[in-house]
This record gives sequence, structure tokens and C-alpha cells, in this order.
Amino acid sequence: MKVEIAPEYGHFINGRFVAPQSGEHFESINPATEETLSRLANGSGADVDGAVVAARKAFKRWSRCRAQERAGYLFRIARRIQERARELAVLETVDCGKPIRESRDVDLPLVAQHFFHHAGWCDKLAWAFPGRSPEPLGVCAQVIPWNFPLLMAAWKIAPAIACGNTVVLKPAETTSLTALRLAEILQEVELPPGVVNIITGDGETGRALTEHADVDKVAFTGSTEVGKRIAAACAPTRKRLTLELGGKSPNIIFADAAIDQAVEGVVAGIFFNQGEVCCAGSRVLIEESVLEEVVEKLKRRMKNLRLGDPLDKNTDVGAINSKRQLETIQRYLEIGASEAAKRFDTNCPLPSRGYWCRPTLFTGVQPAATIAREEIFGPVVCTMSFRTAEEAVERANNTNYGLSAGVWTQKGSKALWMARQLKAGVVWCNTFNEFDAASPFGGWKESGFGREGGRAGLLAYLQ
Ligand code: NAP
Ligand code: MG
Repeated sequence: MKVEIAPEYGHFINGRFVAPQSGEHFESINPATEETLSRLANGSGADVDGAVVAARKAFKRWSRCRAQERAGYLFRIARRIQERARELAVLETVDCGKPIRESRDVDLPLVAQHFFHHAGWCDKLAWAFPGRSPEPLGVCAQVIPWNFPLLMAAWKIAPAIACGNTVVLKPAETTSLTALRLAEILQEVELPPGVVNIITGDGETGRALTEHADVDKVAFTGSTEVGKRIAAACAPTRKRLTLELGGKSPNIIFADAAIDQAVEGVVAGIFFNQGEVCCAGSRVLIEESVLEEVVEKLKRRMKNLRLGDPLDKNTDVGAINSKRQLETIQRYLEIGASEAAKRFDTNCPLPSRGYWCRPTLFTGVQPAATIAREEIFGPVVCTMSFRTAEEAVERANNTNYGLSAGVWTQKGSKALWMARQLKAGVVWCNTFNEFDAASPFGGWKESGFGREGGRAGLLAYLQ
């Protein structure tokens, strides 16, 4: 399927696409081919201000709009996303570099599900929080990263508007196209102007938005470094804040696990979306007695991964989102080599253009090693061993992050015990990277605070 992409886009403010006040544009490219896809508006302080003014004005009516009516808009957005899912999946893959199989079978169904789920909450908020009067916060500034562009937009927008807030969203500079296509859908369903505004631009645009004085709530998903900067800027203001940040999640395999299934879980945990996943299972902890078996099977499985054209439905590993991210990953590969761990990669040929990284495994990594501590955000995994469940817990929790964890065991009591011990927002047992709009997602420690999804996620958008 070929998707149409306009040669140039403006910001989406007050229900219309408008040219940037500065007249400046930047290029959005396809990371698998390095071709320019479109030119996007560079958001200045004046553009941000226009969007916040529109959102403020719209808030007056949207916050008082009947709950069933709000639900109707969310429902129609969800339906329209389903109807245009193929086009949106192709656009996401072209802009972002992720395999079409993933954008089609994972991202898009979850995007629609998120709007359906929140459509259902609109008229049940009083029921969800008995004894309180569920009041929206006001204007929400939302800033998102490039790894799940449309899904992150849905995670942000759906609960915010379901609760009666209005939104100014800034997608990541390298992946704004699906958010702009979502803006077209908002026009199609005749969402009242100003309820959702979308401003494109870089980190400076994000800063102008999150620091705007007439914003009531900031919701940020991205790196821990930028998250801390935003938290500092919000501290002396009235703004509410939620942060979804980085991770270095453990995937823990016990000797009594179904080993083949666990190896699949490791592959899904770290090579899904090229490892550019905040909750990626980037540290694999393996019980000593099955260490060799797991590593051998993992290597065999890695050799079968198909890297290449993201639009090919047989592709397992697509392109890295940007040159900058590829360079970051390559730096970690060099550090990994010098940290004296053994290195294995799939040795597959790489396309001549675009940004590519082979799935890579470092074995025998010390817990103190840089590659075992820092988020790489690429298809790079390291393995470590443990002897007892207590040691597994200690190693797993020995990190500043706490976003997710995986546990592989056939023993239910052990899985439950581990889930209680692990300091992480999500613990998966005998699976990994499963998401559901009804299930809250979010971090402990430096992985952030606030939840997205389910009843807990609504709290982030209510007084
Ligand atoms: P990032 O550099 O922190 O950027 C995230 C967003 O913030 C982008 O839209 C970025 O704009 C914008 N931004 C940059 N500087 C800013 C500033 N000073 N003020 C306001 N906004 C600013 O993160 P990234 O590299 O895009 O994404 C990767 C990170 O996101 C990883 O650490 C990953 O773990 C995390 N993440 C977390 C979750 C979660 O749910 N916990 C989910 C996905 C990703 P530009 O990109 O246009 O410069
Ligand atoms: Mg792009």
C-alpha cells in the first residue's frame, strides 16, 4: 500500500493546519532509505502560545460537554483509526523504521484500543472514583518520543480528553507524521477545535511548551535526563507532572522455565522494535545451571532474525530511528567490547543506505559494567547469571530504573514471590512486552511516576 504524504505540513491548531509563524520547516526522513518524506513546521514560542490559547479557550466548553458526548467523539476516533489502520501502519513504518508486522499487528490495534477503552470511561468517572467529583485539570502539555509515535500519542491524548482536559501535543522531531495524520482524523470526526492541538518541532519546541505559563499539566515520555530537566522547570509552578522515562529491565530465567519459550521471550523482549523500547528486557539474568543452554539457543535464534526493509512483512528487525540514535548505540557497542564481555552478533549483511544495527549479544557481563547499567535503546542485550532467587532479585533491582521485569518459571509460587520482590512498575510472567489499555503502565525510581492506562491512568488527568 502506498500512502500519500504531503510535501509540507503545518501545525494543527484550533482544528486547522496552519503555517509556522517563523516560516521555518525541518525535514522528516525515512530512516531505512534516508529519503526525505516531508517538511514539517518548526514550532516557535509564538506557535506554542497560539496552541495553548486555543486549548484554553476550548477547555471552557469541552470540560462542560456532556460525558456521553465526549465518549462519542473518542469512540468515533477509535473507529476511524481502525478504518485507516493499514495506511497509518505503513506511514508509521516509513517514518519510524519499525517492521510493518509490528506497526500493523501491535501498534495500530493498541492505538485503537486505547481510544475505545477511554471512550468507555467518559461517563463512568464518578463511578470510578466514588465520593469525589471528577474534575479535569485544564490544558495539558504532552511531549512524546519516537519509538511508538502514534501509540504514545494515543496514550497521552485519550485519557486527557476523556477526563475533559484539552491538549497540546508535541511529537518527536523524527516521527511526527502519524500524529499529523491523527489530526486529520480529528477533523473528520469533527472534534471541537482546540480540544487537541499538535505542534511539531525539536526539543526547544518541547521546552517552550512544557514551560508555558498557562499550562496546568505536563505529561512527558522520554529520556530520564530530559525528564529531570522538565521536573526542575515545573517545580516552582502550579503544574501537575507525570513522567514516563527510561529503563534497563531485567528478564529473569529460572532453570525450571520452559526454556524454548523463555528464549522466545528474550528475543521478543529485546529485539522488538529494534530494542528501542523503554521497557526492553535488556538485561537477561539466567540461572547458572541453564546458562549455557539458554545462550546457545539464543544465538541460534538470533541467526534467524531477518533484518532489512521495514515494509517487508517478513522483516523482524527494521531500521534504527535516526543517525543520532545509531551513533549512540554504536558507542555502547564499543564500550561493551572494551568491557571484556564476549560479543556475538548476527553478522547479517546491512543495506547500503539507512541506519542499521545488527542484533548483538554480550555474554558474561559484570553487573557493574556500563552496558549492564545504562539504557542503550537498541538491539543489544547482555546476559548475567545467578544462583538463587534472592540473588536474582538483588541483581534485578540493582539499577536506578524500575519500569518492567520479566520472570520465566513453571512454578506459580515463585513467579508471585518474584513479582512482589521486583521493584518495577510492570512484571510479566512467562511473557514479555504485553500491553493492554486496561492495565496501568509506568515506572518506579528513575523510570518516572504516574501511570498510563486503566483506572490508575485517569488519576493523572483529574483534580
Ligand atoms: P528524549 O530525548 O527525552 O525526547 C523525548 C521528547 O522530548 C521528544 O519529543 C523531544 O523532542 C522532547 N524534548 C527534548 N528536550 C526537551 C526539553 N528540554 N524540554 C521538553 N521536551 C524536550 O527521548 P527520546 O530519545 O526521544 O526517547 C527515548 C527515551 O524515551 C528513552 O529513554 C526511553 O526509555 C524513553 N521512553 C519511555 C517510555 C515510558 O513509557 N516510560 C516510553 C517510550 C520511551 P525531539 O525529539 O524533537 O528533540
Ligand atoms: Mg522519520
